[in-house]
Amino acid sequence: MPKMAHQRTHLVLENYIGGKFVPCSRHIDSYDPSSGDVYCRVPDSGKQEVDAAVSAAKGAFPGWSAKSPLQRSQILHKLADLIEAHLEEFAQAESKDQGKTITAARSMEIPRAVYNFRFFASTILHNTTECSEMDHMSCTHFTTRTPVGVAGLISPWNLPLYLLTWKIAPAIATGNTVVAKPSELTSVTAWMMCKLLDEAGIPPGVVNIIFGSGPRAGEAIVSHPDVPLISFTGSTLTAQHIREKSAPYCKKLSLELGGKNPALIFDDADLDECIQTTVRSSFTNQGEVCLCTSRIFVQRKIYNEFLEKFVEGARKWKVGIPSDPTANMGALISREHLEKVRSYINLAVSEGAKILCGEGIDSLDIPDKNKTGYFLLPTVITEIKDCSRCMQEEIFGPVTCVVPFDTEEEVIQRANDVKYGLAATVWSRDVGRIHRVAKKLHTGMVWTNCWLIRDLNLPFGGMKASGVGREGARDSFEFFTEVKTITIKH
Ligand code: NAD
Repeated sequence: MPKMAHQRTHLVLENYIGGKFVPCSRHIDSYDPSSGDVYCRVPDSGKQEVDAAVSAAKGAFPGWSAKSPLQRSQILHKLADLIEAHLEEFAQAESKDQGKTITAARSMEIPRAVYNFRFFASTILHNTTECSEMDHMSCTHFTTRTPVGVAGLISPWNLPLYLLTWKIAPAIATGNTVVAKPSELTSVTAWMMCKLLDEAGIPPGVVNIIFGSGPRAGEAIVSHPDVPLISFTGSTLTAQHIREKSAPYCKKLSLELGGKNPALIFDDADLDECIQTTVRSSFTNQGEVCLCTSRIFVQRKIYNEFLEKFVEGARKWKVGIPSDPTANMGALISREHLEKVRSYINLAVSEGAKILCGEGIDSLDIPDKNKTGYFLLPTVITEIKDCSRCMQEEIFGPVTCVVPFDTEEEVIQRANDVKYGLAATVWSRDVGRIHRVAKKLHTGMVWTNCWLIRDLNLPFGGMKASGVGREGARDSFEFFTEVKTITIKH
């Protein structure tokens, strides 16, 4: 693979269409979050580029969908091996582009991108369909599943290659061809992956990557009549727009959206473990994970003790430049996002809430050239009302609110009292309570006495404004294929 250019001149990306890199005449500046400097230029693609990509994907579909699952599986494994062989380059690039720590990119994100291909390369070999006998009618019914066609895949900036490959892998494993668009803020690792597709044996046109903004490139994918399926991960607002734009075509939609995830901490919880994990669940990846905890409900008896230790833990959560291997947190994605996150903190202050930690970043021990980066310290807000926008809206930064509660019934009602329903954590040693509470929470996922332990076989996704559909071994297989029921009378 050609070396990633860490050169003085800007890195200029190109679209990948029909197995070739295709330059684009318009570009969007992409910023290094740790300094605020422009370092990369991303194609500002529109309808013309998307039309070319869809046409290439349509052309590749008959050949790719006719391959056996085993043939596709072998190609996916090869791609996984190639990404793994370049893991360090990918990790460096992801960390620079997104602002996340090199440790997170190296130990979690790029390995997960590799695993996404391995996982679906394996699951595609084990899929079966249903059969039912109707002896009294001399009939046998069975189902078949076929790939849908050209899949439109749109992903966000917080976990760039991880989330993009979580879509590309099942889409192509099941025989679809794809037109994918990563976020315009974090396009570099997707572009690097394109350089490996040919060597992995992916035929031209099977994977097409278009770079550009949501309103131009994203919308051109969503409203393209020859893209019957859209898998989208991003904000609830954008999803509403996608639903409207795709409605005239009755597209299949999978929408993985935002969250306002509660932690319910009962007074019998293992406090040390709970605090350690809740600091992590609040501030991992600068709080820029859809599953991050942003409302912490603590039973009154342990409230003060929890708060004191939690703030102590938050203060120890080290903010540093992304390349610092000892940092727990890097820079936020963009100036606009940093300002948005800060505006919530200001709002909390104006409402009379208390900010217990999260002071300015002047104290940070970072090089001078990084003082213009988008850094923010882990911020803990208390004495805030449930109706505050800080408790209702997704902030998507290193900001969490801590409030007390008295009873089980009360905390379930308050935890459910938001428009989102993605994930929750429950902390208690009482197994009966864990079952009761987990069942009553209106979220797609509940972690009890832990956070973010995932089995990719099981469904991932949210309720209410957090999404439509689920992803996982079975769910992704079902989403990326069309089912047909065939009845044979004999
Ligand atoms: P976003 O909605 O702004 O953008 C997501 C993607 O959609 C980007 O590629 C963007 O270019 C594209 N897009 C924007 N407008 C579009 C349009 N009109 N038509 C088509 N595409 C368009 O989200 P973001 O700011 O990149 O990501 C953060 C959001 O993603 C948060 O809300 C977070 O919770 C959510 N998220 C959810 C999950 C999940 O699995 N549930 C995972 C990660 C992030």
